[in-house]
Amino acid sequence: MYAEDTIVAPATAPGQGAVAIVRLSGPRAIEIARTLWRPARDGEILPRRLYLGEIRDPKSGAAIDRALCVIMPAPNSLTGEHVAELHCHGGVYLTRRVVALAMALGARMADPGEFSRRAFLNGRMDLTEAEAVADLVAARGESALRQALAHLGGALAERVEGLRRQVVGIRAHLEAEIDFADEDIRLPSRNEIAQDINRLIEDVALLHDSFERGRIMRDGARAAIIGKPNAGKSSVLNLLLGSERAIVTPIPGTTRDVIEDSIQLGPYPLVLQDTAGVRESADEVERIGIARTRRHADEADLIIAIFDGSRPFEDEDRDVIRMCRKRVGVALLNKSDLPLVLSPEKLDALEMPLLAFSALKAEGVSELRDRLERAVEALLGKRGENGPEGVAISRERHREALARALEALESARQAALSSMPPEIGIDRIFHGDLYYCAARACCR
Ligand code: GDP
Repeated sequence: MYAEDTIVAPATAPGQGAVAIVRLSGPRAIEIARTLWRPARDGEILPRRLYLGEIRDPKSGAAIDRALCVIMPAPNSLTGEHVAELHCHGGVYLTRRVVALAMALGARMADPGEFSRRAFLNGRMDLTEAEAVADLVAARGESALRQALAHLGGALAERVEGLRRQVVGIRAHLEAEIDFADEDIRLPSRNEIAQDINRLIEDVALLHDSFERGRIMRDGARAAIIGKPNAGKSSVLNLLLGSERAIVTPIPGTTRDVIEDSIQLGPYPLVLQDTAGVRESADEVERIGIARTRRHADEADLIIAIFDGSRPFEDEDRDVIRMCRKRVGVALLNKSDLPLVLSPEKLDALEMPLLAFSALKAEGVSELRDRLERAVEALLGKRGENGPEGVAISRERHREALARALEALESARQAALSSMPPEIGIDRIFHGDLYYCAARACCR
C-alpha cells in the first residue's frame, strides 16, 4: 500500500449546489467517517451502499447536516485503500466544516490529484487511465469526451501492451539464438528479426503520428484568422463566437495581439485566433503583432483567410495568399453586402475554397461553419475513430515515450542486421528495452 495516512477533500466543485461529496481515503477513512456520521437506523452498514444519517461534531455533539454515507473497503475501491464518502448538502461553509471535522479526527487535506495518484500507485488504474480521468473532467466537447472514454476503457493501454508483446517476442528469438545456437532447431535469421523490428517500428510510428489527431480531438484544432487590416477578421471572430470578443473599428491596426477563443463545431472544438492585420507598419507594437500573426498562421492547423471585396487587391492580399499555400482552410470574400471592387480572378492563385461572405449581415455563416467542420475532419483524416488505428495519443508525454521507443528500435534493427555476435546483438537490442520502458511508461 502506498500511503499510511488518510486524506480528505471535497470531491465536488466548490460553490453552492444540491449535493457536495466529501471523500476520504486511507487506512482510517471508514473509521473517521463513521465517527462523524451516524446512520438514521440501526443495523449493519454494507459496503458500496448509500445510507441516510446525520453528521455531528464529535466533540460538541452539534448536528451539522443530514447526509448520505457510503463506505468502500480496500482493495475494491477507487484508490485501492479504504474509501468513505459523505454526500452532504452542497453548501460552501457546510462542506468546509465537514472537511475540518475529518481533519480534526486525523485526516490530512489531500494534495491536488492525490486520490488519482493513490489509485495509480496502488495499481487500480494505469497512467493512461488516470490521464483519461483528467481529460474526461476537462472535456469541452464530444470528440474530447469520446477520446477520454476510450482511454479510460484501456484502448491506449491495450494498444501499447500489444506493442510490448512484440518486443518481448523479438527478444525471445534473440535469446534463443544464444541458448540453442548449437542445436538443430530452426531459428529466425537476423534478416527476419530485422523485418520483425521493422514491422514494429511501423506500428510504433503509426501510434506516434496519431498525436496531432489526438490533440485536435482533445483540445480542438487551431484556426488562425488572417487578412489585411480592416478586412473583417475581428467581425468574423465575433460572429462565429456569437459575442463581441474582439474590438471592431474602422481604424486599421486595432487588433495588435492575438485574441483567442473557442467554438464547438459539431463534435469538435475549434480554437479561433484573431490576429493583427498583415501589412507593413511603422508602429513597433503593431510590427510585433504582425510577426506574431505569421507565427500563429504557421503553427495553426487551419487558416481562415479574409479578403475585403469592397477594396481593390493589394500587396497585403498577395501576402495572405502566400500564407495560405499548402494549408487546409477556408477563404472568405468579405463585405459581399457592398459593391464588389476586388476582381475575383486576382484570387485565382488561392489554394483554398472561396466563399462570398458578409460579416456585417451575417451571410454565409452556416456554410462557413460547415466548411470548417469538414476541414477539421480532413485534418483528422479518413481513418475513423473505431478500429485499432482509431486510437490516438493525446499528450506530449505519450509522444516523447514513443519517440524514444522509435530511436531504440532503430538501433536494435541496425544491431540485428550487423554481423555482431548474438551476445553483442542482444546487448544492443536490449536498447529495445528503452522502448520497452517507454511503452510501459506510456501505459502505467
Ligand atoms: P479587422 O481589422 O480585419 O479585424 O476588421 P474589423 O472586423 O475590425 O472590421 C473593419 C471594419 O469593416 C469595421 O468598420 C467593420 O464594421 C467593417 N466590416 C466588417 N465586415 C463587414 C462586412 O461584411 N460588410 C461591411 N459593409 N462592413 C464590414
